[in-house]
Amino acid sequence: MTEPTIYDISAPGRRGVLLPDVDVPETSLPTELLRTELNLPEVGELQVIRHFVNLSKKNYSIDSGFYPLGSCTMKYNPKINEDMARLPGFAQLHPLTDEEGSQGALALMYQLQEWLAEISGFKAVSLAPAAGAQGELAGILMIRKYHLDRGDRKRTKILVPNSAHGTNPATVSMAGLQAVELPSDENGDVDLKALQAACDDTVAGMMITVPSTLGLFESQILDVIQAVHDCGGLMYMDGANMNALMGVVKPGELGFDVMHYNLHKTFSTPHGGGGPGCGAVGAGEKLKDYLPGPTSQIVEAPTDDEEAPLYGLRAPEKTIGQLKAFQGNFGMHVRAYTYIRIHGDQGIKDISRHAVLNANYIRARLKDTYKIPYPRICAHEFVLEGHFEGIDDIHALDISKRLMDYGIHPPTNYFPLIVPEALLIEPTETEAKATLDEFIDAMKKIAQEAHENPELLKTAPHVTPVSRLDEVRAAKQLVLCCGPALPSLSVTAGERSGD
Ligand SMILES: *Cc1c(COP(=O)(O)O)cnc(C)c1O
Repeated sequence: MTEPTIYDISAPGRRGVLLPDVDVPETSLPTELLRTELNLPEVGELQVIRHFVNLSKKNYSIDSGFYPLGSCTMKYNPKINEDMARLPGFAQLHPLTDEEGSQGALALMYQLQEWLAEISGFKAVSLAPAAGAQGELAGILMIRKYHLDRGDRKRTKILVPNSAHGTNPATVSMAGLQAVELPSDENGDVDLKALQAACDDTVAGMMITVPSTLGLFESQILDVIQAVHDCGGLMYMDGANMNALMGVVKPGELGFDVMHYNLHKTFSTPHGGGGPGCGAVGAGEKLKDYLPGPTSQIVEAPTDDEEAPLYGLRAPEKTIGQLKAFQGNFGMHVRAYTYIRIHGDQGIKDISRHAVLNANYIRARLKDTYKIPYPRICAHEFVLEGHFEGIDDIHALDISKRLMDYGIHPPTNYFPLIVPEALLIEPTETEAKATLDEFIDAMKKIAQEAHENPELLKTAPHVTPVSRLDEVRAAKQLVLCCGPALPSLSVTAGERSGD
């Protein structure tokens, strides 16, 4: 809280910039246009560098430590992605460059669309949406338009299990449809009886997160898909996290009609506060012509093997329209392309095998210390309950805060909503066994502390630059800039959850 601001280290007359000698005639500035009330800090170059480097070190990141934030898939993003995205031919390509001058970029987009289609068994993919949630909106608008085009106007409902990601029901409302919540059964799967009872000719489709936010693969997924198709609805899969499925299951082959991928979760592009990202959408036969545009398409096939095809950006035939300027966030396409290309066929399969193995390793080693509400093999993440029998005032939040003292970013708290005191843990495939063991040891020590010295948890964190924050106040009284005129108030929000 007493962190010096840039103004605190300012002293009159200090300078951090050397201006070149004037090589034009000097004239005085028009004084009536100058703002005299601007209070600019005066600091030397070294001071300003230290100030901002020190501030940046207070940020926790995957490059500084373990980050098991479930649902968010904070895997390591290889630095080669950044090198590729910065190649001048990609980074400096203007979006208004004509097709002839953009062939390399369009070929890369085309290839990425093809790879994503192959990984998940869809007919076509659009890279246009800027985030997972926007991909969801695209998919539900596609389902809506499909029914309307057929004159089927009664279908206004989308079924959403209560284990779905929070964005799912929000998407349904944004698309002007009605979300109908379905309960889960005791195994954490969709309650099939409730599903069958809800299926009728007003159902436009179903939106289901696979694996569910409980980290579980729906054991009766084929029955679920069949029931919805039988009543004329279409199936949307929230495939934000493909980390458990690659090379194992192709959603398109299971019968899903449309799905979004989060390139920032599975394909190692940076997370960025909701964007700029890429929430690509894949579609099967029924919906492929409705994809948001433009997509990269072959506009002229090669005449012989030597020649490359000619690519162009085109809107799919019955497209729902455009969601994003130009072709979406091209820098993300380059990074995801690099990731898939470097891993190759076997490497992509290994990512999922290791992600699932890592999550199950932690789950198995913590199951005698913490309550695991759904004790089955998990996918890329699992949920445990962050409380202990007989200790009433220790909550998931206290465990999370204490983890920070052990140098570990907390898991996702209080999500999914259907598990009391939920902690959703996702190690990702990029962590070594030694790191997983450190995390497990920390979790076990914290459980012991909860029994022996609960105060230690209640007052955590102890080693961070600021101790426990008033998260409600931090969110309600945002202070977005610093300066001597403003009261000094911490603006750091608590760790994100369910993103
Ligand atoms: C992260 C996530 C989303 C939302 O993706 P954004 O890119 O944050 O909009 C949707 N569904 C699931 C299952 C997710 O994990």
